[in-house]
Amino acid sequence: MSSENLNLVLKSRFGFDHFREHQEEIIRHVLNGGHGLVIMPTGGGKSICYQLPALLRDGFALVISPLISLMNDQVRSLRANGIIAGALHSGTTGEESKTIHENIKNGSLKILFISPERALTPKFLDFLRDKMISLIAIDEAHCVSIWGNDFRPEYAQLTTLIEIFNEVPVLALTATADKATQEDIRQQLKLRNPKTFLSSFERPNIHLSVRPGIQRLDQIKEFLQEHKGQPGIIYCLARKTTESIAGALVNYGYKAAAYHAEIDNYTRKKVQEDFQFDRLQIVCATIAFGMGIDKPNIRWIIHYNLPKNIESYYQEVGRSGRDGQEAEAVMFYSYRDVAVYKEFIQNSDADETFKRVQSEKLDRILEYSQATNCRTNVILNYFGEYRSANCGHCDHCQNPLQGFDGTKITQMALSACKRCNESIGINLLVEVLRGSGKREIYDRHLHEIKTYGAGKDITFKDWNHYITQLINQGYLEIDYTRHSILICTPLSDAVLYDRKQVTLHRQIELPEEPIVQRKSKSIRFKENLLDRLEELRDRLAKEDSLPSYSVFPLGTLKEIAEVRPYTVEEFSKLNGVGEYKSAKYGQEFVETIRSYMTDQNLIKKPKGITYVETLELFRQGMTVADIATKRGMAVSTIAMHLAKLYLKGEEINLQQFLLPGDLDMARQGWRASGFSDQASKVKEQVGDSLNYERLNFALAILKREKALKENN
Ligand code: ADP
Ligand code: ZN
Repeated sequence: MSSENLNLVLKSRFGFDHFREHQEEIIRHVLNGGHGLVIMPTGGGKSICYQLPALLRDGFALVISPLISLMNDQVRSLRANGIIAGALHSGTTGEESKTIHENIKNGSLKILFISPERALTPKFLDFLRDKMISLIAIDEAHCVSIWGNDFRPEYAQLTTLIEIFNEVPVLALTATADKATQEDIRQQLKLRNPKTFLSSFERPNIHLSVRPGIQRLDQIKEFLQEHKGQPGIIYCLARKTTESIAGALVNYGYKAAAYHAEIDNYTRKKVQEDFQFDRLQIVCATIAFGMGIDKPNIRWIIHYNLPKNIESYYQEVGRSGRDGQEAEAVMFYSYRDVAVYKEFIQNSDADETFKRVQSEKLDRILEYSQATNCRTNVILNYFGEYRSANCGHCDHCQNPLQGFDGTKITQMALSACKRCNESIGINLLVEVLRGSGKREIYDRHLHEIKTYGAGKDITFKDWNHYITQLINQGYLEIDYTRHSILICTPLSDAVLYDRKQVTLHRQIELPEEPIVQRKSKSIRFKENLLDRLEELRDRLAKEDSLPSYSVFPLGTLKEIAEVRPYTVEEFSKLNGVGEYKSAKYGQEFVETIRSYMTDQNLIKKPKGITYVETLELFRQGMTVADIATKRGMAVSTIAMHLAKLYLKGEEINLQQFLLPGDLDMARQGWRASGFSDQASKVKEQVGDSLNYERLNFALAILKREKALKENN
């Protein structure tokens, strides 16, 4: 199939203008019957790689996925594009299952999502035997490997399925697999001459930042002020924390809920669904949440606690911004979390090697949180993708750290630590340095040591930050076996006695400014129009019981707001609009745009439309319908031109287009709407008795009347 034709299918069925990196290559490979391994970051666009070939090949595709809500979401999205798909898993109702079987029988089903357990039952395998399978896609393929982050034994048995359908192309896909895992996937699934498609792990639309875990709730509140109404997840280590944070946020008036392994099934389902459908803004969750979430418009992720390793951190972060729009990831770190993990690891029944690896992975995430260079680079290097160029979307790239001579500060801290007999943790050490009057200090006679209060000019926060750096640089060490107290290291003496210089970095200023100092780059469209389009989209979604983004994701709405198509045809050409959605939603969107333009009295004309041309034809005596035909535009568009021209002072007899009584009706409606500028508001008042064209004409007359009166 030619590139041109593949692009046509992409546009007509999915609405996209062009393929992203690797997509076309992968699709061709599948269409040619090959086996492949696709490693693409979350949001990279893996689904198209099997969805599109599934449409072009005979029969239906089997897509194995371990995540129920993810399957359901894909089915919804496909249906929103008019593609027949179904999902079989433990949550499938008898009714749904019946429909799926009917669709298989009549040949209309194109994609079947199925959990590995179901796919492997003898009954199902038997059922499949005489069916035409177009391809097998194995999503979350890292689950097949014990090296991966989420090993599932059922996955290892999928070879059975692959062997039965010997001739069928197989695609294994994952967003998280280091080198060892990649090799393991190819071997475990016994892929035949597999071609590997490796995309960069970088997620350029996600801004990464790390903050000290102090006054976290205050920081979160500030953050939420900057992210009003935007859906996000707060990941916590403990069930209790999810509940207390969610409770606090609810008290502040946010729509928030807790989610963890122990909530009952009903609540779990409800939280997931409410979040999916934007009825819930914030989910405070343990890592139990998110595995099954495929919500593309998550705008931010906060790690309230340190994640347990870089893999899970990046996977959780990756749940935001799947729609390609900007997202924010904020991680808090604290040594207390490290201590909790260490204890957890030590007390587990796992073998020593496993424990050691877990512990080393934990060290790596801690190093990441303490890094003074580009965060993205730390992560990409971790996944074996060598990169040294600054990413430009992390806190360090945006606010490069300035080093300064911190020798004196270091000496103070080390000396205080020693004089307290290396028996206290970070917080108490800072209290001592700052000369605090805490009870514990007096009880332990720490106020008697020489360095007590020596560092009172440095804030608590700054001290915390400096000591963290000292740990990172190896001058202090945390003894996890003894309640995380601080001890000096062999390097300490050089600073204390040999005046070795230490460079420290100042804290990125936090208190004065909100966590996020970024504002969207430029608002090229009127926000107002975007609001209206969002409103319309949300209503349409509700009518079809779809999550809003399934109708159109934010990116497409922005494009609509920018281009402002005036006709359904123009609308259908936008990136993100396929034939099905264009036919289904086009008219309403176009009308919304038109009424917006009228309301705003916008002089700026959409591309290629000249009012003058319309006016000239009208002056030549052509009817509105004739002009529309001649110009290849909708009648309503031409009518809109005329109404606008009239408002701008052109002498046009608009009365001729009205029926008796129209003007009165419009006047009443306009008044009832409080003389609203928005035609849609007036339309609400007049109902169906006036169509938009006549209403716009009448409103133009009334508005000019009013303006004249006011001027006199
Ligand atoms: P993944 O499964 O890799 O996490 P998805 O397949 O869900 O990612 O795709 C992420 C988002 O990108 C979806 O909103 C999808 O519609 C969109 N997308 C995928 N391919 C393209 C493309 N070629 N052009 C524009 N958007 C795309
Ligand atoms: Zn960076």
